[in-house]
Amino acid sequence: MERIPISGPSITEKEIQYVSDAVTRCWYGNANLYHEKFREAFAAYVGRKYAVPLPSCTSAIHLALSALGLGPGDEVIVPELTWIATAAPITYVGATPVFADVDDATWCLSADSLAERLTPQTKAVISVDLYGNVPDYDALLGVCRARGIALIEDAAEAIGSEYRGRRAGAMGEAGVFSFHGSKTLTTGEGGMLVTDSDDLFRRVSVLQDHGRPRGDRLFFNDEVAFKYKMSSMQAALGLAQLERIDDLVARKREIFEWYRRLLADIEGVSLNPEPPQTKNSYWMTTVVLDERFRLPKERLMEMLAAAGIDSRPFFYPLSSIPAYSAMGGEEVWRRKNQRAYRLSAQGVNLPSALNMTEDKARRVCEVLKDCLTRARNH
Ligand SMILES: *Cc1c(COP(=O)(O)O)cnc(C)c1O
Repeated sequence: MERIPISGPSITEKEIQYVSDAVTRCWYGNANLYHEKFREAFAAYVGRKYAVPLPSCTSAIHLALSALGLGPGDEVIVPELTWIATAAPITYVGATPVFADVDDATWCLSADSLAERLTPQTKAVISVDLYGNVPDYDALLGVCRARGIALIEDAAEAIGSEYRGRRAGAMGEAGVFSFHGSKTLTTGEGGMLVTDSDDLFRRVSVLQDHGRPRGDRLFFNDEVAFKYKMSSMQAALGLAQLERIDDLVARKREIFEWYRRLLADIEGVSLNPEPPQTKNSYWMTTVVLDERFRLPKERLMEMLAAAGIDSRPFFYPLSSIPAYSAMGGEEVWRRKNQRAYRLSAQGVNLPSALNMTEDKARRVCEVLKDCLTRARNH
């Protein structure tokens, strides 16, 4: 039987045409043609003044932290549950990550926990729109504004999600996106930084191009910085995908809806939340099992894999992974961030690729139900 992949893109004739056009024509005087179109269309879509195409979301976060002037001695608060790319750039600039708990209602950064983690050294917060879910931004921004702390919105997994009528990426000083092949909109590898701030945009533009002053034609650099650019072929692919974004998001929501209906009759299984006044673009449909199943996520993943179904574990709490063993250790953080530890242990991402079909979702749910029955009778 065909393996069901966890994630992957939707590529049509439009994408192939735009990329062919870029590789044929976008050299010499046309080199930036697709960048300009992609950046303008993207800024308009998110509802931001500026959009900066980049090689990855990781580089976008690195640039945002650098542009905000963060360095050694500064602390940046991140939620426990996210991909390491959210936090790794904090280390790149020499600052210190501080892990905060999540809310059960959103699976995202908790404003109460954020407030508890503040110290005089706190300079920024990176919130994460996990799997397309959005946190309570009114509460998070309230905490940040009261203390004059910058908020960066990691919307890598949430293009098309909304919070009170505003698109994901529109909250805080800057929003960042990933166009990795697993994400809803892909450029193969790629990312975007969006902001409304003239100062932040200007600083990012200098830092992404080896510290050249804007408009520099003399290769006369003001400072040592970074080289973070996207190619024309990637920008062309991104523009084609963006012109189809409503369809891509609708497909993600349809996949979620298949799972929701097929799993509606099982007790003790919850799926991604979509609180009132939010729209979830469901990058990955995720099941969280009630603890009474006594079925660790790793065991469930093995059972699914044996049936030809790829899955992923809910992200492990950052404080529990070897990369951050020097941050105090799991035992210290587990007590502080209990909701994150509980949620992570019970969650698995289900196949959510854009080539999913209702038949495949049915096969996944049949196998999943069988796994749960076996666990219950064990
Ligand atoms: C994918 C992802 C990133 C990193 O994106 P890259 O483009 O691979 O650098 C950052 N944060 C989150 C939450 C992600 O899921």
